[in-house]
Amino acid sequence: MHVIYGGTFDPIHHGHLRLALEVSEALSVSRVHLVPSHIPPHKGVTGASSEQRLEMIRQAIAGDSVLTLDDREVRRAGASYTAETLRQLRAELGPERPLVMVVGTDAFSSFDLWREWQAIPGLAHIVVVRRPGADLPVGSEAARLMAARRTESVSDLQVQPSGRVLELEPPLLDISATGIRQRVAEGRSTRYLTPDTVCQYIEAGGLYGARSARE
Ligand code: ATP
Repeated sequence: MHVIYGGTFDPIHHGHLRLALEVSEALSVSRVHLVPSHIPPHKGVTGASSEQRLEMIRQAIAGDSVLTLDDREVRRAGASYTAETLRQLRAELGPERPLVMVVGTDAFSSFDLWREWQAIPGLAHIVVVRRPGADLPVGSEAARLMAARRTESVSDLQVQPSGRVLELEPPLLDISATGIRQRVAEGRSTRYLTPDTVCQYIEAGGLYGARSARE
């Protein structure tokens, strides 16, 4: 089973890292591939450059045997569309191998705004991670898709290459990249929210308005 977990990771933090590990255990896989998006179509301009976001991920997962970086969206010029990434991966993995994309309920709730979203269930399974305060809107396409394709069983993801939706509810850390960027801009510490190497990289590079580099 090939598992990808996409996001802006601006910056990556312990909430992301912990989630990826929880998912690897829940699905019994030895790898989770982090796929940072290049130009996030729904998010606008990022605080750090793509190269900086990649570097922070590299530092955060250095020495980790489960989490790996897949930088294909950054290398691909232009906007990052999940359907395109999944199509590329499907071509590499062949038609039979299960492919899984991991997404939080906050991102999944506007699933029908994603380009070519109808093609996605034909390409991959979707693991939706429930985030507190981010329920799927009743009657939304995301809720409909979930109802039609839902499974409770991880083994269903192993016997088919794509098409099922599994909801997981692991304990999550209440950390957001927005909160980290705010703290940096206010000159406050980000320690323990993200690995120390990432804190240092942010400070040294003056990312997100970090003070030490400006003074
Ligand atoms: P921002 O605050 O900039 O919106 P974010 O911290 O939510 O960023 P993203 O890169 O947008 O991070 O998220 C990528 C994926 O990680 C999404 O599917 C999101 O639901 C999930 N995610 C983000 N933060 C956490 C967390 N603390 N625990 C679990 N999942 C998270």
